[in-house]
Amino acid sequence: MGAMARTKIQPLGHCSRCTRACWKDGGDFRRWNGTMSRGILVALICPDCQTPEEHIEAEVKEATLDYAGAVPDAAGRPVVAPRLENDQD
Ligand SMILES: [Zn+2]
Repeated sequence: MGAMARTKIQPLGHCSRCTRACWKDGGDFRRWNGTMSRGILVALICPDCQTPEEHIEAEVKEATLDYAGAVPDAAGRPVVAPRLENDQD
């Protein structure tokens, strides 16, 4: 027939190497390595297909998110403020 089935839910994309579908609700979504160009996703690499180097890159990107609340110091580097726990005199 060749008719294209319409699916209500579409994956965000497919792995550029093994064509595995990437689902936002997938448990390993955050470990996928995506390449954006002008706001458009141009390449996706699933965790299974990532080289160790790419895997580190993905980890770094995720870690960078933790710096959202960091304040840049005089040199422009992000500084994460130490957490104060009930600092009472
Ligand atoms: Zn893959």
